[in-house]
Formats: sequence, structure tokens, C-alpha cells
Amino acid sequence: MPRVHVMPDALASQVAAGEVVERPASVVKELVENSLDAGAKELRVESQRGGTALIKVSDDGCGMDREDAVLSLERHATSKLRDKEGLTTITTLGFRGEALPSIASVSRFSLTTCEHGMIAGTKIVVEGGKLCDVRDAGCPPGTTVEVRDLFYNLPARRKFLRSEATEAAHIDYQVRLHALACPGTRVICRKEGRVTFDVAATSDRRVRIGDLTGRQNLGKLWEVPHLEHPGMTVSGYLLPPAEARKSRRGQYLFLNGRPVEDQVVWRALAEAYRGTLVSGRHPGAWLWLEMDPLLVDVNVHPSKREVRFHRSAELRALILEAVEGALRGEGKGSPGSPGRGGSQESGGTEENPSIGGSSSGSQRVEEEAEPAISGPESSSAVSSLREEPSFPPGPQAWRAEVQEELPREEEQSGEPSFRVLGVLEGRYLLLEASDGLVLLEGEAARERILFENFLEGAKQATAESQGLLVPLLLELEPRDADVVLRNAENFRESGMEVEPFGGVTVQLRSVPVLLSAADPRSLLLDLVDELVHSAEGRSGRVLTFEKFAGELARVGARGERCRVESAQGLLDQLFACDLPYCTPGGRPTLVQFSSSELRRKFGR
Ligand code: ADP
Ligand code: MG
Repeated sequence: MPRVHVMPDALASQVAAGEVVERPASVVKELVENSLDAGAKELRVESQRGGTALIKVSDDGCGMDREDAVLSLERHATSKLRDKEGLTTITTLGFRGEALPSIASVSRFSLTTCEHGMIAGTKIVVEGGKLCDVRDAGCPPGTTVEVRDLFYNLPARRKFLRSEATEAAHIDYQVRLHALACPGTRVICRKEGRVTFDVAATSDRRVRIGDLTGRQNLGKLWEVPHLEHPGMTVSGYLLPPAEARKSRRGQYLFLNGRPVEDQVVWRALAEAYRGTLVSGRHPGAWLWLEMDPLLVDVNVHPSKREVRFHRSAELRALILEAVEGALRGEGKGSPGSPGRGGSQESGGTEENPSIGGSSSGSQRVEEEAEPAISGPESSSAVSSLREEPSFPPGPQAWRAEVQEELPREEEQSGEPSFRVLGVLEGRYLLLEASDGLVLLEGEAARERILFENFLEGAKQATAESQGLLVPLLLELEPRDADVVLRNAENFRESGMEVEPFGGVTVQLRSVPVLLSAADPRSLLLDLVDELVHSAEGRSGRVLTFEKFAGELARVGARGERCRVESAQGLLDQLFACDLPYCTPGGRPTLVQFSSSELRRKFGR
């Protein structure tokens, strides 16, 4: 067995780790990139406790022989870049040779690898940058990297991490991002031992988009015509303006297969959509950019998330032309048709039959995509890509049904056109839609509106609160007083000032403006009740603000009555939300009975 020795410059690696390994998701990113660079056709990513306990990435790629495997853990060891010239023509995801040694320097690390056709592989164990063991290992061809106890030797960094749920959400997002970038690779993602998604390899990017973001999106995708300018091409898919979101989370850009962020592209995209979007909204987009490596510098950011384009004016023109082309094709077909009609911009309907092709294509895709997103696990996973990382678990399976149909009739203002017909039982608004009847549940709608307002208020640090004329003194049970004080920061961020007032008495001085009509006493007591019975309340932990806001929204929305006079206002507020179709807990806010369903019921 080779001699065990201390890796040189372990310290230098830890320093580099500061740049490369920001959080568990960055480890996942580096390992996944290595696997893809190694030609993986199947990729497994597993994590436990937000990646702090375990991150494991396995691939069936080319593997390494023993010498290379040991070398790969040396700083600046890379098989991908040999000289300065190479840097200008990079086509692999990695090239800095920093990731493996950096990760190994801040964790308990093992690498098991075997080349194809070899009988035995190699296992290397490193702890905190110290090489502990190199030995033969029986393993399938490919490479598995296990990273345990990330930052165990850097307590300060470990403390800096967010909650496990948040870190887990970042990991999930990262894997999905790469899974979108490489449809040809099967990707299996596991969390705490359970499969969160498993997407089959496909040659069709639409299928991958559907598998990962929800079948309901497939029928709405507009194809971006494949367009070429010297040295660069673009292709991809867009969602119609009515689907636009408040955040950029629905926008994906892949440059030569690498997920990147780029302002030039985002601005060009926004410009192309100008006039069709409510301000502050960002259209959903999946864009694949292939570019001569000479025209782009990918080595400007340690994690390579940002890049520098040498000919950004041409890039802007290319994106504008392509996206405008896609948008012009809109509305040529019948309004309810799932595919987009019209295709003059894609040039030549003979070779490129995008009318028939895209809609029948989408049909096929929907069928293929079905098994992958039909399980409860994957349908909640589907929604989480569209959420901010720390959101509560997303909507359940119903969402695919409701969302599939409703937005199709939306107009370019971003709000579906509804005619208010009346109110049922004080609970529901009856709305006439372009396709049948829609019921809006007042409580659910209000809950969504309150929730997003609380989050926005906290983000902007402008939670609007209304002082009570007479502060309210409430004597609580010790357990209840305790939960209030523990969550004092959450209360404050939502615009509800509560202070200890000696013993088990608390003083309520203000309430959120949005809830100023509520009885402050029952508002506080109901909320405390929910907090105490939440999982966090029971285990004595503090809720994240999102969870807190969710509870407050639920309590605040209770008993919401619908009235015809205020219906339009409610609709406007609801459709100003990022996710108008469900409550934070995933219940629907709107339910549709399509014309065809109604006709069926009447035996027509
Ligand atoms: P980089 O990816 O920047 O080259 P890394 O530190 O991430 O640097 O990896 C070092 C080298 O180890 C890579 O260049 C590659 O040759 C090898 N390597 C890493 N991961 C794998 C893998 N999963 N399969 C095969 N080779 C790998
Ligand atoms: Mg790498």
C-alpha cells in the first residue's frame, strides 16, 4: 500500500475552499460537474441533513486509474487544462483543478473510482486534507465521491450555514439546474435516503423541462427558433408573459452546457418581452447558448457562475432576435390550443413544421413525462424548483390539474380575465372564465396574499404595522409566553410588536396593517396556538420567517368573507402574487369547472 503522507499545502486548499466551497450546494455543484465532464450517463446525488452530514455523488463516467486518482487530489491537478492557450478554449465544466482538494480539505472525504474494463478500482480516504488511505476497491466503473461532515474542521464556516432545510433546498436546486443542462444523463436525486426525483435520459430538452418543472408547463412552452450568429447559436423555450414571475428563478441560461447567470442575456430577454409584462415580472425561459469558447471568458468567477462575453452587443442582438421571433409566433393559433400557433419566424414550415410539430410534440412529451411526475414525491419536488429555496413544501398533485388549464386563458396583463358572477355561502367567489366557471375560495386567496406581503415586507424591511391605540396586555400560559418571546424577531419582522411585560404577560403594541381589521386579541391568541402546535413549537425551536409568515397568513385569513364589491380588488391582489394559484401550504385558491366538464355533467 502506498505510504500515507500529509498532503502538501492542505492549508492552501482550505483557503481555496473558501472560494470554491461556500456551502453544501457548492460541493454538489463541483462534484456533479466533474461527473458530467467524465461523461456520466447516469448520475446519482445523495445528501443528508442539508449536505452537512453527507454528500455523495456517483457516476458511471470514465473513472480514473490509481495514479490519476491520487493526483486529482493535489492542488491545481486537472486533466482538463494544460496550458495558457487551453484556457481560451475550455469546453469542460471544470478546469481549475481546485475542487477536489478544496472539498477534501474541509471534510471527511473519500473517492472511489474505477476505469472501464478494469477489475479493481481505487479508494482514497482523506480527512481534513490529510491523506489517510489509498487501497484497492471493488467497485463498478465510474466514480463515487463521499463528503461527510463538511466544515467539521472549520467550525466558523459551519456556523455560517443556514438551516438544514435551506441548505437542502439549495442542493436540490443545484442538481435540478444541472439536470436541465444535461438531458442526456439520467439523474437520480436522494435526500435523507429517499428519492426526490429520478429523471430518465432523453434527447428532448422539453421532456427534461417537463420532468423537472411540471407537466403543466409543457403545453405552454414556446419554442425559441434555433438562431445562429457568427460564433454563437441560441435555442430554447419560453413561457408566455402571463406566466411571468416576480423573481428570476424561472430563468435558466446554459452556456456550452454550463448553467450561468448573465445580465446581458437577462436584459435582452426583458427587452424582447417589453410591453407584454407587468413591471417587475420576469418571464420563464430556458435558453441554451452555444458559443465559440474564444468569445467568452469563463474564468472570471471561482464557481464559474458568471462569465464574460467578449462580444456582448452581438449576443444581445442574437437573444433579442430569437426571443422576439418566438413571441411573434404567439396567438396565431386558436387561443386554447396547447402549442403555439404560427411559425413564420422559424423559417420554412416544410423542414421545420413547428405548428403541427410543436403541438403534437407537446402531446407526446406530456405522455412521456407522466410517469416521472405522477408520484407525490416528484410532484412536490416539481414545485420546489420554482420556489425560493426556503419555501415550505410546495403544492400537491392537484396543482398540475388546476394550473394546466387556468393560465391558458390569461391575457397579456398577467391576470386571467374573469367576470364576477356572485358569491356562494360567503366563502366562494363565482367567476366566469373564458373556459367555464372558476370558484375562488376567499380564505385561501387571502392567505396567499398575506403570506407574500409578509415575505416582501420582511425582505424590504418595510413591514407595515399599525399601532394599537391602547396596547393590549395578555396574560399567557408560560408555554405560550415562551413561544412568543422566542419568536420575537419573527413578530417584529411581520409588523407585530410584542414585548415582555413581566412574568407571563406580554404586551401587543401593533399589528400588521393588512390585519388591522382583525381583533388583535384573538389574532395573537390564535397565532400563539398555531405556533405552539407547530413542529418547531413542540421542539422548542424558532420558526423560520417563511414558516412564521405562513402561520400568520393562515390565522389572519381565517373567516375571510367574500363580497362582490371587493371581488375585483381581491383578484388584483391575488394575481399580483408570485404564485397566485395556491396557498403557502399548497391548497388551491381557485378551482375550475371547464365548459366541457359542465357539458359532460349535463349529458351533452
Ligand atoms: P477540475 O474539474 O477543475 O479539473 P477537480 O479538482 O474538480 O478539478 O478535479 C480534478 C481532476 O480529477 C479532474 O480534472 C479529473 O481529471 C479528475 N476527476 C474528478 N472527478 C472525476 C470523476 N467523477 N470522474 C473522473 N475523473 C474525475
Ligand atoms: Mg471539477
